[in-house]
Amino acid sequence: MKADKIIFATGNADKMREIRMIMADLGMEILSMKEAGITAEIVEDGKTFEENAMIKAKTIAEELKKRGEQVIVLADDSGLEIDYLNKEPGIYSARYMGEDTSYTIKNANLIQRLEGVPDEKRTARFVCAIAAALSDGRSFVARATIEGRIGYEEKGENGFGYDPIFYLPEYDMYSAELAPEEKNRISHRGKALQEMKRILAEEL
Ligand code: IMP
Repeated sequence: MKADKIIFATGNADKMREIRMIMADLGMEILSMKEAGITAEIVEDGKTFEENAMIKAKTIAEELKKRGEQVIVLADDSGLEIDYLNKEPGIYSARYMGEDTSYTIKNANLIQRLEGVPDEKRTARFVCAIAAALSDGRSFVARATIEGRIGYEEKGENGFGYDPIFYLPEYDMYSAELAPEEKNRISHRGKALQEMKRILAEEL
C-alpha cells in the first residue's frame, strides 16, 4: 500500500510530541487530527486498551476514506493499572475523577487510597495499545507496558499525567524525572510505537 502520511488520532499535545520523536525516522509526515482537519465523534466504549485504540483508529480511517486519501491512521489508548486498586484507574485513567480534574488532585487521591500500603504491594504499570487502520482495510495492534510502583509524593517536572507518582525501581527515579528521550526509550508508549513501526515496515 502506498501512503506518505500518518495521522495520529489524538488531541493530546504531549502525546503528539512523544510520537513525533519516536516515529521521526520513518520519514513520513505525521499529523494530528486537528492538523489533518478531522473532527469525528469517537465513542470509546471498548473494554480493553486494544479495543479502544482500534475504535479510534477505525473511526478516523472511515472518515478519511470518504475523502479518498491513502493514509495510515494510528491511535493509542493508554492508562495506569494499580494492582492494589484492582487495576484502577485502567482504561478510565483520563476520566478518573473527571476529565477536567487536575493531575495534582488525581495523584494526591491515588496516594491517599494507598495510605499504609507497603512498597511491595504498590505495584503498578502503564499500559499502551497502538492500533493502525490502513486505507485498504487492514488493521494491526501492538501493546506494551512499563512496570513500576506508586510513590508516596509527587516527584519530577517532566512528562504528564500520572508520571510524578510512578516510581521506576530499576532506575531509582520517578517517570517525571526522566528526560523525554529516556522516557521514550523505555515507556509503554515508546515500546508499543517501536513495535508498531516494525509491523508497518513489514506490512506496507
Ligand atoms: P487516553 O488518552 O485515553 O489514552 O488516556 C491516557 C491517560 O492515561 C492519560 O490521560 C494519563 O492520565 C494516563 N497516562 C497514559 N500514559 C501516561 C504516561 O506516559 N504518563 C502519565 N500518565 C499517562
